[in-house]
Parts: sequence; structure tokens; C-alpha cells
Amino acid sequence: MPGKNTDTPAMRQYRRFKDAHPGCVLFFRMGDFYEMFFEDAQLAHRTLGVTLTQRTEGVPMAGVPYHAVEGYLRRMIQAGHRVAVCDQVEEAKDAKGVVKRDVTRVITPGTLTDESLLDEATPAPLAAIAFLPDHRVGLAWAELSTGEFRIASLPADTARDELARVAPAELLFCEAADGQTPRRVTDATAGFSCALTPRPAWPFRAGEATELLRKHFKVASLAGFGLQDEDPALGAAATVLHYLFETQSPGGDETNHHSKPAAAKPPRGPALGNPLRHLRPPKPFALDEHLVIDQTSLASLEVERTLNARSTNGSLVGTLGQNGRACATAMGKRRLRDWLCFPLTSRREIEKRQDVVQAMVDDERFIRELGDAFEHVHDIPRLIARLSVNRASPRDLVALGRSAAAVTRVADALDQRPTVRPFFERIDATRDPLHALGRTIHDACVEETPAHLREGGLIRDGHDPQLDASRALMQNADAWLANYQGEICEQTGIPSLKVGFNKVFGFYIEVSAANKAKAEQFQKTDAGRAWARKQTLKNAERYITPQLKEYEGNVLTAKDRAVAREQELFQQLCGRCSEELERLHAFAEAVAELDVLRCFAQRAARHNYCRPQLVDDPVLRLRGARHPVLDELLGDQFVPNDVELGIGERGTVAEPDLQTNGNPANDDGAPVRPPMSAPRSLALITGPNMAGKSTYIRQAALLTLLAHTGSFLPADAATVGLTDRVFTRVGAHDELHAGRSTFMVEMTETANICHHATPKSLVILDEIGRGTSTYDGLALAWAITEHLSKVGCRTLFATHYHELTALGEQNASGRLPGVGNLHVKVREWHDQIVFLHRVEPGATDRSYGIAVAQLAGLPPEVVARANQLLTDLTTPAQPDPCHSGGAARADHSPQLIASPANEPTLFDASPPPEDHPVLRELRELDLETLSPLAAFDALRGLHRRAQRDS
Ligand code: ADP
Repeated sequence: MPGKNTDTPAMRQYRRFKDAHPGCVLFFRMGDFYEMFFEDAQLAHRTLGVTLTQRTEGVPMAGVPYHAVEGYLRRMIQAGHRVAVCDQVEEAKDAKGVVKRDVTRVITPGTLTDESLLDEATPAPLAAIAFLPDHRVGLAWAELSTGEFRIASLPADTARDELARVAPAELLFCEAADGQTPRRVTDATAGFSCALTPRPAWPFRAGEATELLRKHFKVASLAGFGLQDEDPALGAAATVLHYLFETQSPGGDETNHHSKPAAAKPPRGPALGNPLRHLRPPKPFALDEHLVIDQTSLASLEVERTLNARSTNGSLVGTLGQNGRACATAMGKRRLRDWLCFPLTSRREIEKRQDVVQAMVDDERFIRELGDAFEHVHDIPRLIARLSVNRASPRDLVALGRSAAAVTRVADALDQRPTVRPFFERIDATRDPLHALGRTIHDACVEETPAHLREGGLIRDGHDPQLDASRALMQNADAWLANYQGEICEQTGIPSLKVGFNKVFGFYIEVSAANKAKAEQFQKTDAGRAWARKQTLKNAERYITPQLKEYEGNVLTAKDRAVAREQELFQQLCGRCSEELERLHAFAEAVAELDVLRCFAQRAARHNYCRPQLVDDPVLRLRGARHPVLDELLGDQFVPNDVELGIGERGTVAEPDLQTNGNPANDDGAPVRPPMSAPRSLALITGPNMAGKSTYIRQAALLTLLAHTGSFLPADAATVGLTDRVFTRVGAHDELHAGRSTFMVEMTETANICHHATPKSLVILDEIGRGTSTYDGLALAWAITEHLSKVGCRTLFATHYHELTALGEQNASGRLPGVGNLHVKVREWHDQIVFLHRVEPGATDRSYGIAVAQLAGLPPEVVARANQLLTDLTTPAQPDPCHSGGAARADHSPQLIASPANEPTLFDASPPPEDHPVLRELRELDLETLSPLAAFDALRGLHRRAQRDS
């Protein structure tokens, strides 16, 4: 896009802004359109589907109408682009030469604040990654739309998993000398989509980073935030801060802008300006305070999105937040997502949440009262954010006022309820100031709020005398003019005289030609001396008087003055809100938490969830457990199952002391089923496809995860040992784009489990080793089972390798301690199978694959042939007709392949074969004294005998 001397002034302006915002698509306002030029125009044509034209020859141009720009911006951002919006900052009619323009906002995927660009239930943070020495990374993420800011220092190999659950919309990284995105950045973001933005190196450096953060938060040291000055991880936080400032103050000049400092010197200048005043100091994130759920597990457990449709509908977050039992507030919805992705590990903290849920379950009125109060609470953090970045609308202000005023109702609902005393105290501390703020806004603003302030209409009549005077002028103009006209008619004695208005000449007194002489006569009197002739028409003469002129001035500017005054009052009210930022945040925080707890309580009360007992022993005992999503979908059709895993302190799980709160079955004395089998930490689950194996193992993982959020569980009773990590290896998928086949992905995930599982982990495995040959797969599955049983982590392993179940057979000599078998029951009926979905102790020896294929609609002849082949394959081998001279096989059945049972392999648990004489002889040879020749003779002899005896 080379600049040309022949460029118009507007084009020169365009190039200047384009150069100042590299990497951004420039939306350049020209009249009623935002225009894009050159490569931006081509991109807009491709991304937005707008027509590509030419401004002048060789200058591609595409435009979007200004009134619809938000929709186009959204699409650009969703496509992962950054946009700089360049507006006209003076009225075209006032412009001397080219109209003044400026970039008023830079919008990037990670810096959104506009309501129309955001989903209320999903965070869209901006993150930065700093690669540190000793295989560590610094991560920081902030949400401009809420002001939340976090920082973490983590082992490098956890970066991808943590980024996946932070789910940044945009990731900043230190630019590389070659301009390419470094491999370790693409590795850290593999598996999820986010915009990648390179940034200069200086804010990543510890010294400059510390200085930048200190300056912005106006502190001498970061220690008060739990951070260490000069910590290398601070580079990530400083980069986030700097980028936010740059995008929110695009026109910011050098006096309030943290520009790149002179080499190695810390940046100078005043603290960062106002647009980030709602941003809170970075809060340290400690990995061990949260149950670790890696990226694979997050995806395969469908915590946020379903695997296939990538939709929140049907995910855990989606299910808990739907059907009228959702959180009532937007911040509650986001907090629910946060709690489900970052469950806790501290028993005390989880139990605190449980206590509140219990208090709500026991008191339905409390749930109702809170719900009623929350209806008045809008999305406080996002409203504050828009206010801070100066993009709040009148509706935002009024919504914030209403939310602030709701503090009284929320506090009243909590008052006198001892279990929620800590919440009451937090909210009560904000009550009076927020109530006062709500009143102020309510008293100043009308209920039916306009969408914008261009026409005014926000401030109530009677609130501000100056505004009232301007409005009175606008509204009473007709009456004033009629009155004035009456007075003049009387003075002049011309009854047909009229006072009129036109846009070009303004107000005038019009006298018909017939009365012109009378008017001239009047002009000679004292009263008429001030009359001045304004315009002569064919049939009339027009005059103006000083009084009318003054009135004209007042009326014509009244509207502008009214709008300007409203804007002034609006800014004052926004300023009032800013004074209460801290309290508004504190209130919003407490409401978000209470809202999620209320969501848990509603579900517990209506769906018979029980309060899980948390214990330190690595156990998982669930009675009558249901899958939280399928339970909702299938209702009574869903078959509950028990889970019995882990070995308690006393080395047994035989008689679990299950917590049974809220379980009507237990309350009416219904018998609790006996424990499923002997103690085990690893259960092998066999059964046909579609029997419910995956559902069962996922259900165990999901309930474990839920128990760590403070939620109650869809079960009759539950005891959950505190868990450090949940691992899953389920479903087959490949990552061919990353050069990894299905089997490679499977083994990578399994390797991760083998390396990181601890005795406190929960592992669920679905079909390990299916992506390779039968024996390879079986051998791997076997070895992995042995390894995990040694680790002692709670493991549920669904498998079709029935041979594996020897490891869990009570009476088998090869049984591994802590390993047991379960199977999902089916019933055979008229050559068909019926799925009972009931998990019971013991193994099954059939997969019913052909029966399931028949159900799936395989043609009958194919099913019949498969059944025949199966019989052939599993019947002991017949002598080979070619060698034995017996009758040849009538069909083309495959020869019997060696079945594992026929092979003396690692799967064979029977005692070794009786000694063969050759073996005995071999053992007795003294190799140390044997010469090479004698050794060869011995070998030949043994070989001959072995051949003869076989
Ligand atoms: P598998 O892993 O054994 O092939 P799945 O767990 O995928 O089987 O379950 C197959 C289907 O069976 C599920 O989609 C669900 O509709 C149904 N199902 C599974 N478990 C249950 C259950 N406990 N009660 C009722 N239906 C179930």
C-alpha cells in the first residue's frame, strides 16, 4: 500500500492511521459509511461478504453502513481479526479542509466490552504467556469486560491445560525476531482456538513489568497483592496491562501512554489513565488450590461444550444452567462456568459452600427471596467496565443504579440466616453507599431510558433547573409565539400580521403587501423603531425585532443546550458510580457466588441430589448415582448405579459410612444395596457396546468434579475422597493436523496419565489400545492396568479385552491386588439383546458386537454371515485338510487364528507346562566350560530331539 504524492488529504489521513495500528483492519468513517481500502477491503469482502469496488483506479474499497457497524465488527472479531475504528471527530460542516478523524477504539478478540459482542455467560479473557527459565511459564489473564485479573507461574508442561480452561479469546506472546509465531506458543494453544498477537519484548522483562504494574496500581511494592517484585512471571501481567491500555486509549499521547522506554530504562510518565480504572490488581492463581482437569478431560467430560456439536447445550455447564434452575444473574452464570472448570481442593472451602447449599435446600423460602432480589441485579462487572472505558449507554447507567439499589433486598434476604452470615456481612458493608447511589440514579433518570444520548431524554423533569429551562423553551415555543403575535397585532393594529419561521431565515413578522403602509407608519413610532426589514416577498414584507431575535437564539440552541446539559449530568452520574467501584465489585462478587450456590440448591432440592461427604481417604463411593446430563434428559428411564472405588484408611471399603442427606430412599428406611465387591482401586468394566460403560465411567468423573465445586450430587448417597486430578482417556479421535494419528493421540494421553497420576487421582479409561493390532493393544492395556494398580489411583477402565479381566478375578492366580471386575448387564431375548444399563460385580465374556451391529441396521445377510464366521473363529481349530487329507471346508471361512487362550502368553494364568526332556538337558549344560564346537554339537542334538518329539 505505497503512499503516493497524488493521495487526497483523506487518503493521507487513512495511511497515517493505518501505519499507527499495524495488524488492525481500519474501519475509516467517510460520511454514512465505514470504508476499508487495499488489503483490508479484500479481507472485508472475504470475511463480511461486502461488495468490493474501487475508489479510484487501483485502490480497492469496501464499505459498511455506519448504523450497522456493530454487526460487522462482531463478524470481524469472530473471524479472529483486530479492528481499529477511525471516526470523524468534528462535524463535517465545521471542518476547514479535510474533516478531523481519530481512532476512537481498537477492538480485538480479547478486549471486548460491548454487550452486543459478548455472550453474558461466557468469559472472553485476554491472556499473555511468558516463557521463563527452568521450564516454567508465566501466565496472566484479564477480562476488560469485568476487571478481573489473574496471574500464575506454572510448570511449562501444564501451560496448555491451564490455558484451555482459562479459554482466552486472545493470547499475547513475545514477538520473535523472524516475525513467526514460535512453536512453543502454537503448542500451548493446540486444541482450542484463540487469536495470537505478538507483542514487543520490553513489558515481558521483570524490571519494566514491575514498574508498569506498580505505577498503574499506584503502589510502592506489589507485595500487598501477594506478588513478588521482579518476579519474571510479572512480564505476562504487565504485557496484558500495556496492551489493554493501548487498545483502550488508541489516541493516547505520550504523556499518558506507557510507550516503549529508552533502552533498558523503566518506563516514565504518569500512571496509566482512566479507561482501566476498573481493572483489579492481578490475583495470584495457585495450581494446587484447584483440582486439575487437563484439556483432554475438560473436553471429553463435556464440561463446557459437547464433543460433537461443540455446543454448551448438553454440556455440564449448559445442563446445570438451564431449565429455569439457572443462575439468575449474568455474573452468576460466568461464575458457574468458572467453578466447574476450576473445582477446589480444600475440604474446608468446599464444605463452606456445601453449608450454604444445605441452608438453602432446607429453606425454600430463602431460595425464592434471593431469586426475587437477584432479578433486579444486572451484570454489574460489565456495566462498570463499559463505564470505565467510556462506552456506557444511558441504559447501562440506569441498570447499574437499579442493581446498586437491589443491595437492600439481597441483604434483607440474608439477614437473620446464620449460615450465610459471612455473605451478609460482605454485602451489609456496601449497603448504605450503594443504596444511596441507586437512589441518586433513580431520582435523576427516567424509567423508560433512551438507548443513547444523542437526543437526550434521560434526565427527569424537575431534576436540574438549567435543563428544565432549556426544555421549557423548546416545549413552550408555540404558546410564546402565539402570545407575541397577539401583542404585536394589537400594537400595530394589523390583525392579519403573522409571526413565522423558516429554516433559512429563522423567525420573522410577516405583513401582507396590503398592510405594508401601515407597518411603515408603525416603524416611525417608539415601539416600532426597532423593527428591521428582513425580506421582501411578492405579496408580503418580513421584519425582525430584537425581542424576536433573542428568542430565536434561545429556542434554536435550546435543544443543543439541553442535550449538552444531559451529557454533563450523565457524566456526573457515571463519576458517582466510579466512586463506588470497590463496593460495586464487592457486591457483584458476593451475588455471583450466592447465585451459583442457589443454582446448586435448586437442583439439589428438585432432583433429589445428596450432599457428598468429603474425606481425605482416596475413595469414591456412590449409591444410586446418576449422570447429571442424561438424568435430566432421560428422567425415570435412567438407571442409577453404584460406584465403589478406593481403599480407605482401614484398608477396606466393605462398609462405607455413606452420607445420605436428602435421600428419601434412605429416609424411609429402604434397604441400601450391599457393597459391590471386595476392596479395589481399579475396576475393569466389560459389557457390550451401548450397554452404558462410557456413561458409567464419565458419571463417576463428573460427580467427583461436581463434589469439588460444593455442589450436591445426583445420587442417593456419596462419599468422595479429596482428589488432586481427574484424568480421562475416552473416545477415539485423531489430530492429523498436528501429525498425530488416533493411536498416537491415545498413547500420548495415556502416557500423560501414567506420568502424572497419583494415589489421590481419579482415572477413567475407555478402550485403551484399540488403535493397534489385537495383541499389541491387549499387551499395552494389560501393562497400563498393572501400572495404575501399582500407583493406587482410583481407576475405572472400560474395555472389550475380556482377557484383562483375569487380573480382577477373585480366584485367578494372576489377580492383581486392588483390581476388580464389573460388567454392564444385558439380557438376551429372542436372538436380541436388551440393555439393562445395570452395573454389577464380575466380568462378562461376550461383547455382543454382532447383536449391536444388528440393532444398528446392518443388512440381515451380513449379520448372518458374521454370526457364522464368529462360530468358526471361536471353535477349536480342525486339522488342516490339505495336510491331513480330510474334507476341504465348504466355504471360505478364515482359518482359526490363534486365540489368546491357546497361547502360552502373558495372558495365560495356568501353571507352566511340564518339563520337556530337552529343557532339562538344556538347563544342565555348563556353558562356562563348553567349547564352541561342543556347544554346536549339543545344540544340534537338542534340535534333533525337539523335532523328533514335537
Ligand atoms: P457403551 O460405552 O457401553 O458403548 P454408552 O455409555 O455410550 O455405552 O451408552 C449408550 C447409551 O445407553 C447412552 O447414549 C444412553 O442413552 C444409554 N444409557 C447409558 N447408561 C444408561 C443408564 N444408566 N440408564 C439409561 N440409559 C443409559
